[in-house]
Amino acid sequence: MYENYGTRTIFELDKQGCSAVSWPAVDVPEQRLEELLPEEYLRGDVPPLPELAEPDLVRHYSILASRNMCVDSHFYPLGSCTMKYNPKRHERWAALPGFSDLHPYQPADSLQGLLALLYELQQMLAALAGLDAVSLHPAAGAQGELTALLIATAYFRSRGEKRRFVLVPDVAHGTNPASAKMAGLEVVQVRSSPEGIADPEIVAQHLSPETAVFMITNPNTLGLFERHIRRLCEMVHAVGALVYLDGANMNAICGIAQPGKFGVDMMHFNTHKTFSTPHGGGGPGAGPVAVTARLAPFLPVPVVVYENGRYRLDDNRPQSIGRVRSFFGNVGVLIRTYCYLRTLGAEGLRRVAQHAVLNANYLMYKVSQVLPIPYNRRCMHEFVASAAKVKAERNISAMDIAKRLLDYGFHAPTVYFPLVVREALMIEPTETESRETLDAFAAALEAIISEDPELLHQAPHRMPISRPDEVRAARQPQLTWGEGSS
Ligand SMILES: *Cc1c(COP(=O)(O)O)cnc(C)c1O
Repeated sequence: MYENYGTRTIFELDKQGCSAVSWPAVDVPEQRLEELLPEEYLRGDVPPLPELAEPDLVRHYSILASRNMCVDSHFYPLGSCTMKYNPKRHERWAALPGFSDLHPYQPADSLQGLLALLYELQQMLAALAGLDAVSLHPAAGAQGELTALLIATAYFRSRGEKRRFVLVPDVAHGTNPASAKMAGLEVVQVRSSPEGIADPEIVAQHLSPETAVFMITNPNTLGLFERHIRRLCEMVHAVGALVYLDGANMNAICGIAQPGKFGVDMMHFNTHKTFSTPHGGGGPGAGPVAVTARLAPFLPVPVVVYENGRYRLDDNRPQSIGRVRSFFGNVGVLIRTYCYLRTLGAEGLRRVAQHAVLNANYLMYKVSQVLPIPYNRRCMHEFVASAAKVKAERNISAMDIAKRLLDYGFHAPTVYFPLVVREALMIEPTETESRETLDAFAAALEAIISEDPELLHQAPHRMPISRPDEVRAARQPQLTWGEGSS
C-alpha cells in the first residue's frame, strides 16, 4: 500500500494551498474582522491547520476508521462498560432537523417538541429508578456521581448536619472515590466479604453519625447481585446517611428491579451504556441522576417542568446546587436514550436484562472450562475470570491474553479490575451478541492460553501498532499528534 495514508498524521499530510471545500463566491459586502470584533479578541497569527485535498482527507480517515476496533465491527466484551450494539435508527432520529437545527438559546416556547421529549425521558428514568425526580444534565456517569454527592452535601447543609465520610466498597469503580474526593468528602474503603459482596457486619463497623453517603454498585463489578442491599440501606438510613447507587450495571436489572424500592436515595444511569449510544474513545455520554422527593429541591437547574399544557425550563429553585453543565445536557445522547426506551418499552427492557444475564452465564460457563472464575456462582450481566493460574504455570498474564485477543478479532475485556481478583479479566458480553460469537470468543481464549508465551508477550501481531506505552499515552497525549514519534 502507498504508505502515506494511515501511517502519517493529518498534520504530516498537510499540503498548504490544497482544499477539500469549494466556497461559493461572496454575495454580500465584505467585512473585515477588525470591524466585527474588538482588537484584543483577534489572534495574532493564523492557526497551523492542515490543508488537504478531499480525496486525501477521505482516504486518511477511512483507513484510520477501518483500523478501529468498535462495536460495529468487533465483539467488545469490555466489562463494566456495557458496549452493546447501537441501533442505527437512533442516529437517524437524533439527526432530525427538528432536533439538530435547534439553538440552545431559543426561547422555550419554540422548543416544545424537544422539551416534551426531555420531560418524558425524566419520567421514564424516574420510573425505572423507582425514584421521584431526575436531572438529565450530567454528561457522564462520573459527573452523575459528583452531582449526587453535591446534592447530598447541600441536603445535609440545609439540615445543619456535618457529615464528611463516604463509604465505598473495595470492588467499586475508581470514579466513586474520585467523585467523593471532588465533592470535598472523605473516602472510607469498605472490604467485601469472601463472597464478593458488601457484608452488613463490616459496613456496620464504618457507619457513624458522620457518615454522609454509602455508594454501592448493584450488581457489583464482580457481576454479583448485592443480596444484603435492603438491610444495608436500612442500616445506612438508621444513622441518617444516604445511599447512592452507581447505576452503571443497570443492564442486568433494568425493568426488573427498581433501586428506589430496595432503599436507594439517589442513583445515576449510564445511558450510553445501558441504553446504547456509541461511546468508545471517551464520549459522548449522559449520566442522568434520579433522587427521592426530599432531595429533589437540590437538583441542578434548569429542570424541565410541564404546566398549563406547556413545557418550560425552571431556573427558580433556591436550594438547587446550580448548574453542572451548559444548557440541557448532552441532548444528542438523551434523544438516543429516549428512542431506545420507547422502542423497547417495559417488556422489551425486561427481555434485554434477561438476555444480558443469560449471555453472561452462558459465556461464564464456557470460559470457566479454560480459566478459573474466582467468584463462580450465578452471575448477573458480567463475570470476572482470573489468569493468575496461567501466569504462575506458563507466564501468561491477563495483559498478554487481552492483547492476543485483538489478533483473533476481539476487543479486549477489561483487565486488572476489580482489584480483588488477581490477573482479572472482566467480561461482559451484553444481550446483543449471538451464541456463535460467544462460542468463538471462548474458543479463542482456549487457543490463546496454549500458545507460546513468547509469542503472547509480543502480541498483538496483526495490529498496526503493537504495545503502546499506555501510561505515557494517557499522561502526554500530545505524543499522539505525531511530532516525529512512532
Ligand atoms: C463506566 C462506569 C462508571 C463511570 O461512568 P462514565 O460514564 O464512564 O463516567 C462508574 N461506575 C461504573 C461501575 C462504571 O462501569
